Amino acid sequence: METGVIASSGGPADVDVVVVGLGVGGAETANRLAAAGLSVVGIERDLVGGECPYWGCVPSKIMIRAANALAEARRVDHLAGRARVEPDWSVVAKRIREEATAGWTDDAAVERFTSAGGRFVRGSGRLVGPGLVRVGDRTFRARVGVVLGTGTTPAVPPVPGLAGTPYWTNREAMELAELPGSVVILGGGAIGAEVAQVLARFGVRVAMVEAGERVLAREEPESSERVAAALRADGVAVHTGARAERVGHDDSGFTVHLADGDRLRGERLLVATGRRAVLDTLGLETVGLDPTQRFVTTDDRMRAGDGIWAVGDLTGHGAFTHVAMYQAGIAIDDILRRAGAVDGTAGDGCRADYRALPRVTFTDPEVGAVGLTEQQAREQGCNVRIGFTPLSESSRGWIHQVGDEGFLKLVADADRGVLVGATSVGPAGGEVLSALAVAVHAEVPVSTLAGMIYAYPTFHRAIETAVRELLP
Ligand SMILES: Cc1cc2nc3c(=O)[nH]c(=O)nc-3n(C[C@H](O)[C@H](O)[C@H](O)COP(=O)(O)OP(=O)(O)OC[C@H]3O[C@@H](n4cnc5c(N)ncnc54)[C@H](O)[C@@H]3O)c2cc1C
Repeated sequence: METGVIASSGGPADVDVVVVGLGVGGAETANRLAAAGLSVVGIERDLVGGECPYWGCVPSKIMIRAANALAEARRVDHLAGRARVEPDWSVVAKRIREEATAGWTDDAAVERFTSAGGRFVRGSGRLVGPGLVRVGDRTFRARVGVVLGTGTTPAVPPVPGLAGTPYWTNREAMELAELPGSVVILGGGAIGAEVAQVLARFGVRVAMVEAGERVLAREEPESSERVAAALRADGVAVHTGARAERVGHDDSGFTVHLADGDRLRGERLLVATGRRAVLDTLGLETVGLDPTQRFVTTDDRMRAGDGIWAVGDLTGHGAFTHVAMYQAGIAIDDILRRAGAVDGTAGDGCRADYRALPRVTFTDPEVGAVGLTEQQAREQGCNVRIGFTPLSESSRGWIHQVGDEGFLKLVADADRGVLVGATSVGPAGGEVLSALAVAVHAEVPVSTLAGMIYAYPTFHRAIETAVRELLP
């Protein structure tokens, strides 16, 4: 399908910018460059908007909202009398299908792009030389440059017996119309943990297999412990340090054989063992880039080479929607300068800075984190000082009572007197994180954080307690 493109017959059609992959980062870049008056061709092989709105952040958070409502209702017995809960997945599935994804169609997103002046082509784009992109039998020549925003795809481990079985990835999990009785999840990262908790709270028997020693391995060990305990409390069988040696599949479902001899049965199997960028089909070699690398390397203006930019998951700076959007903003600024559409005297432009990269795992309790973990800070040679406080010891945590599990952990560089990282786990861990993200980003002195007023009785007031531990 093509909207708004009239390609000259024969040679390549000349445009200002070609964007390959209209996911979160690509669509933002394409829309804003088109709105700024550049002639932009946007190429998307699947749905405009990408993974986040259709199979990622949005449907998963709708599921989590519902599952958390069930969990809160179950807490009524501890706080306010009696509540009887009858989970009904069809409400969640309907909301995702009708309200969030329009039945997994992207007419509205395509319309947004074309009404901004963009030209849309449905298909797989591939570089065929500097500034040249082929899609189907058509070639476009980009006068200003090409933007790559092709994202990532599920990384499926080479477990014997797995290939060829009808395992789920995030796509099937997010399109789920009816719940199975049981699911085995391979992978204890953010996606695995979030989906495990949702399914368990809706009454599905869930087993999780994590090869590493802990779930959420990239976060603080205390976060891993807290989330594993929460999953277990919800009935998830969490197997850490457990290697899946073989997968069997028959009419009744899946068997996962673990290296220690255990066998886990599930009607369904969800593979959530990470994501990988697919670079070997993008024609990177035709522009002098290495197609065998794990990610596309970019500089701090998101340039991957001369006249070529990359934004989003495929840059390897964190597979988050907010990273893709942030990078898109930087690439847009740089491209508009290159195109002469921005006053070149107006500063040097934006530069990417990932020191204060925030990330949230939306389990209950939520795990919000920003910047470096304690171990990363030590590895970078910081003179580390830690501030730690359990949430249950704060006034708000005590008032909250059931469901108040969590903590604040602050990682300070004692020599500079600033935070270089922080973790906020709790009922609103991702929201409490915002103050800590400002502190890490702006390098607010610890003494300033210690001298300000924190509203009583909020969860974020626990920051003050943790900060006090950082004072000399
Ligand atoms: C279950 C799940 C939950 C998530 N939850 C969160 C969350 O809560 N918060 C958060 O910040 N992030 C979350 N993420 C991550 C987030 O979805 C991604 O970081 C984000 O979508 C990345 O955007 P992107 O533009 O890099 O790539 P994508 O959104 O993946 O888009 C890439 C697009 O490129 C297209 N494409 C690929 N190759 C080609 C080609 N050759 N030609 C044309 N088109 C091509 C693809 O079809 C796709 O539409 C979640 C992800 C998953 C899977």
